[in-house]
Amino acid sequence: MSNLKEKIIEIAKANGADIVGFAPADRFDKDDAVFQIFPETKTVIGLAFRVLRGIYRGIEEGSTYYQYTTMAVENMEETIMPMAQLKVAMMMEQEGYMALPQRRHQQIMAEGNSTNPEVAYDAIYRNRSAEIQINFLDAALKCGLGEKGFHNALLTDEYGPMVRYCFILTDAEIEGSEIVASHLCDNCGECKKGCPGKAIAEDGQVDPWQCAVYYNGSNGTKNPFMPPEAFDGIDNRLEIIAGEAKVTPETAKKILDKIYFYPPAQHAYQCSICGRACDVACYVHLEEKGVLTKKFNTPFRKREPWGFAVEDFK
Ligand code: SF4
Ligand code: SF4
Repeated sequence: MSNLKEKIIEIAKANGADIVGFAPADRFDKDDAVFQIFPETKTVIGLAFRVLRGIYRGIEEGSTYYQYTTMAVENMEETIMPMAQLKVAMMMEQEGYMALPQRRHQQIMAEGNSTNPEVAYDAIYRNRSAEIQINFLDAALKCGLGEKGFHNALLTDEYGPMVRYCFILTDAEIEGSEIVASHLCDNCGECKKGCPGKAIAEDGQVDPWQCAVYYNGSNGTKNPFMPPEAFDGIDNRLEIIAGEAKVTPETAKKILDKIYFYPPAQHAYQCSICGRACDVACYVHLEEKGVLTKKFNTPFRKREPWGFAVEDFK
């Protein structure tokens, strides 16, 4: 079977995957979604893909935003990642195994009143689908792709949090990868501090509605597209613009309905205005500490982060 493992790694990497890991079935509880989807699962194969550091650059500079949403979200999720999954799965079928690619269904939320900042809140299916999805972060950890950071992001040795990932379930028995012990996250809190909308709680949980509001650009001090009269008619508009408002699902929907300052990408992904500032702050921190194995010629953060004044919106 080691030959199969090597072939999987080779094909996955030839098709864009950067990290490949394997989780034997006994790392999952008997009632895990993995077995609801495919009871004969013997191995979960995890594929992690770097999100190019240069794609975050435009939002870091405040110069271009479309590149992150299209090149770091849409093209990764819709083209690069499925291509690698399909190529690996095809080879496995050729070898006589069952192989079920598992990509995240961006519009389906397991929780009844949740949302996903990367798609419009009214495009989310809540409690209306029998679709079962695996727990992505949990599976990534069990595949040894990386460790869990404070804000529930996957942190990898090579690229820190600048990765996306997906899986293949198979009935092939493949030796597991080592589970990564926590060694990168030092609870520095930079991810929490870096969020322009205080969406990360003291315990590291991300409030999905708070995140959706600020992922989409409600903080005017970090949004070059926001007009001075933004959120007219909402009482606490300056609090929202300052990134200080605490939203509920209801108030979040009202804010999101008024936030068409920048168009979404063509294929249903919302445009990120925060640029995943939580992940960027984490990356900068890990890079400064020198703990990431993928080294670059120059540091990612080149100057003090920029920002507008809340007073400009009075
Ligand atoms: S920014 Fe600090 S606390 Fe947050 S995930 Fe990264 S290392 Fe952990
Ligand atoms: S920085 Fe952006 S993606 Fe991260 S928690 Fe805040 S709003 Fe969400």
